[in-house]
Amino acid sequence: MMAQVVKIISKELLTHDVFRIVAEKPPSLAFKAGQAVDISVNRPGWERELRAFTFTSLPDDQFIEFTIKIYPSHNGVTNEIGLLDSGDELIVHDVFGDIGYKGEGIFIAGGAGVTPFIAILKQLERQNEIGNNKLIFANKTKADIILEGKFHSLLGSNFINILSDEELKGYDYGYISTELIKKQIDGNTKYFYLCGPEPMMLAVGKHLSSLGVASSFIVREDF
Ligand SMILES: Cc1cc2nc3c(=O)[nH]c(=O)nc-3n(C[C@H](O)[C@H](O)[C@H](O)COP(=O)(O)OP(=O)(O)OC[C@H]3O[C@@H](n4cnc5c(N)ncnc54)[C@H](O)[C@@H]3O)c2cc1C
Repeated sequence: MMAQVVKIISKELLTHDVFRIVAEKPPSLAFKAGQAVDISVNRPGWERELRAFTFTSLPDDQFIEFTIKIYPSHNGVTNEIGLLDSGDELIVHDVFGDIGYKGEGIFIAGGAGVTPFIAILKQLERQNEIGNNKLIFANKTKADIILEGKFHSLLGSNFINILSDEELKGYDYGYISTELIKKQIDGNTKYFYLCGPEPMMLAVGKHLSSLGVASSFIVREDF
């Protein structure tokens, strides 16, 4: 697809540093739930600064939506996106990404790494196929949890939160461990879907291999 300029339709805060951004959908755009696209900001000097963001809308929706964590200290693209308003423009480049739904299992996400799973779980919800899928979601604090209420109503007790920097009743504390994953594995667990920052991906990859999970059952994307 040729790069296409789209207008932002709405922008709202989901957490203290994560925005939901809805934009016009380029007419020829095609993607699968879980896939990402390179985006740049249509402002002088920023047009060629491409960064990857995952669609959190579904392929059939009339608009595209992104769920974007802003890093002001990087002075990069997410900081610029944080400054945009409705009517401002993004440039949508190429679609890519390896995460797609293969079957029931456990989704394991760190921070903004949850975005492909937002799309996949939305799609399963629409198809009435949430089944026994589970989500283990690692964050620093409760305030960092993206769409906590939505995941809770969708997954109930199959939504497991773990916080590294805050001890709270009802939430696991620390980092994702082999034991935490093992506790969630049951007869319905076939696939493991991983997405998050590199240190988390490395650690969880080791936990899964120590549990004897073959790499063919691991679907992953580094953020
Ligand atoms: C396939 C894929 C899908 C993704 N989907 C999403 C998504 O849906 N939502 C989402 O929020 N994110 C997503 N990400 C992550 C997202 O692409 C990055 O957060 C984004 O690229 C950060 O861009 P940035 O320009 O703001 O900062 P960066 O590109 O990280 O940094 C800009 C500059 O700041 C410097 N810098 C880096 N780290 C620091 C630091 N700690 N302090 C100071 N300076 C620093 C760097 O040298 C760089 O030159 C995805 C990533 C991938 C690979």
